[in-house]
Amino acid sequence: MPRYNQQVSLTLQIHRKAGPARRATLTLPHGVVETPVFMPVGTQGTVKAVPQQLLEELDVRILLGNTYHLYLRPGHEAIRRMGGLHRFMSWERPILTDSGGFQVFSLSELRKVSDEGVAFRSHIDGSPHFFSPEHSMDVQIALGSDIAMAFDECTEYPADRTRARKSLEMTLAWAQRSKRHFEAHQHEVPWQLEERSAFSAQRSEDELRERIEGQTPNLFGIVQGGMFADLRRESAERLVEMDFPGYAIGGLSVGEPRELTREMIATTLPLLPEDKPRYVMGVGYPDEIAEYARMGVDMMDCVLPTRAARHGLLFTSEGRLNIKNRQYAEDQGPADPACACLVCRRYSRAYLRHLMAAQEPLAAVLNTVHNLAFYLETMRKVREEVAGSQWPAASS
Ligand SMILES: [Zn+2]
Repeated sequence: MPRYNQQVSLTLQIHRKAGPARRATLTLPHGVVETPVFMPVGTQGTVKAVPQQLLEELDVRILLGNTYHLYLRPGHEAIRRMGGLHRFMSWERPILTDSGGFQVFSLSELRKVSDEGVAFRSHIDGSPHFFSPEHSMDVQIALGSDIAMAFDECTEYPADRTRARKSLEMTLAWAQRSKRHFEAHQHEVPWQLEERSAFSAQRSEDELRERIEGQTPNLFGIVQGGMFADLRRESAERLVEMDFPGYAIGGLSVGEPRELTREMIATTLPLLPEDKPRYVMGVGYPDEIAEYARMGVDMMDCVLPTRAARHGLLFTSEGRLNIKNRQYAEDQGPADPACACLVCRRYSRAYLRHLMAAQEPLAAVLNTVHNLAFYLETMRKVREEVAGSQWPAASS
């Protein structure tokens, strides 16, 4: 059984480097994650259409929860009373929560942004709410995630320089406030407070307690700066001065051309500390996540594999495939001949197409399982490629 250092709630052990790419093990309070990693998005406490058991079978090690959605429904205090998000959704592996900022800006109505925070109306029932950096921290601590994110303003695209600069300053001020509040309250996570008798059938009480005791969640800072390389650099430098256990690059994949996404990542990465995890939020297509991992990104998340699956779009080794197309009506082959996932081993394209045509719920389940398997396999191959390289980890 691995020994966990008390109070140290995140370690990144780099095993191998290949140029800027790294193959590492990230240890968090709820378990270990092999990086570079793709993190499926579990918006409402569920990766849409896929039960937790199947996520485990796919070897998903960490998933994302959305603070905005869980705050509105069922409510973070309700989740805290039920022992936190891990226990509520019966997922004992690591969870990362976003700050709620992105959804407040993209989903809610009648937003009013001030230095203090954001007043908005719920997209569900129109009720009024207010998110500040402090409140976002309280919600994420109540959810009990392994990694919480600083409350930021996701700069829209396009945004001119004046606007990007203003947004960047606000994000930095909010990062400082997020950190101060988080550090004062991080020990209040539900996994520190309650009895966990029903938490896990698979793991013994003692093992779990020993693993989690004394550990707290971790807070990552977020680099913004719009599409201006110098603003990105400034944002990264000032954020690194605040000393977070990990850093994210946010405000990408907001409609900008792909070349610009890549340029902003390339500009920012060298400024982030080598010994800490680097996370690019909200990207991308399979070839993009592989490319960014080779550039030195450790963590990525995106709704693309799950959302596309529900629309019948499958990612395969032969490219994208729209399973609804008539040409697959009697195709007995698997979705992807090179894929060994539980869907490709068992079901034909013809059957998957029929499920979509008949609007059967199983279509979403099977398509999503395959797409997630393909994304996870894409990252596994990059990890293998880096591990097999001739560059020892020490020679950076
Ligand atoms: Zn498959």
